[in-house]
Amino acid sequence: MNNFSIVIHGGAGTLVKGLMTPELEAEYKAALRNARDKGYEVLEKGGSALDAVEVAVKLLEDSPLFNAGKGSVFTNEGTHEMDASIMEGKTLEAGAVSLITGIKNPVSLARDVMEKSYHVFLAGEGAMKFADGLGYEIEDQDYFYDEVRYKQWQGIKDSDNFQLDHSVKKDGKFGTVGAVACDKHGNIAAATSTGGMTNKKWGRVGDSPMVGAGVYANNKTCAVSCTGSGEFFIRGVVAYDVSCLMEHKGMSLEDAAKEVIQKRVLEINGDGGLIAVDAQGNIAMPFNTEGMYRAFKTSKGEKGISIYKS
Ligand code: ASP
Repeated sequence: MNNFSIVIHGGAGTLVKGLMTPELEAEYKAALRNARDKGYEVLEKGGSALDAVEVAVKLLEDSPLFNAGKGSVFTNEGTHEMDASIMEGKTLEAGAVSLITGIKNPVSLARDVMEKSYHVFLAGEGAMKFADGLGYEIEDQDYFYDEVRYKQWQGIKDSDNFQLDHSVKKDGKFGTVGAVACDKHGNIAAATSTGGMTNKKWGRVGDSPMVGAGVYANNKTCAVSCTGSGEFFIRGVVAYDVSCLMEHKGMSLEDAAKEVIQKRVLEINGDGGLIAVDAQGNIAMPFNTEGMYRAFKTSKGEKGISIYKS
């Protein structure tokens, strides 16, 4: 049997120790623990990495603490536009959606794009028609409402600014979410889901739904889910870059992930982090910001939940 493992993230950013109340910190950790453990249970029972990452990401989407699904940030027009993606390392199959509204679990719609359409990436109205055809229920605006996100938006809505919820130095909420897993059969998978950036307009799409940028999985190398300023992660083709360093330079997962986040992304002034696994169950979680919500568990008995730099 292969070693198996799961890693999840809830976003990277200026998470400075001491700025968050102990109660809120405990809430974040409980939400991360729950998502990680439910994903791990899937792997423990012999389930697939693909199922494990979907289960974990759905739970993070259901928590208002993170910027994905419920609790997604507000666009310039006061709406929520969500992006999500999923990829399987065995087949290199992938599915993604962007600019969708009213869908409770965008990651599941991304998986349906992968499994029930001939396509990889559906956006906006078309993606909504696809969801409708599959019988998805549409939640009303109120379901996604979160006071902290609303206040973040109120602060900048009359300007041309848009911002990562990550870059707010206050007791704010963070978090695009993602999961990567390696199962007992040595298959790996990755998923990412986000509400994007506060006050975004013009149909802005970040890296999260883009295969190669915010998500990637290939059994030969690694499965990766990213978080950070999407524009830089797109330009750096970050998730695929980790895979390339492993495939073409023979680097280990740990070294490749570190090289990309601590060097290449910084060289283009990008901020953020990623989580990654390889098909032997090794894990990596580098970030170049002050913190990243993250949790992991492996069949070797290692586990942890952290927010700040250790
Ligand atoms: N990468 C996401 C985006 O640019 C944001 C995030 O990671 O929080 O949409």
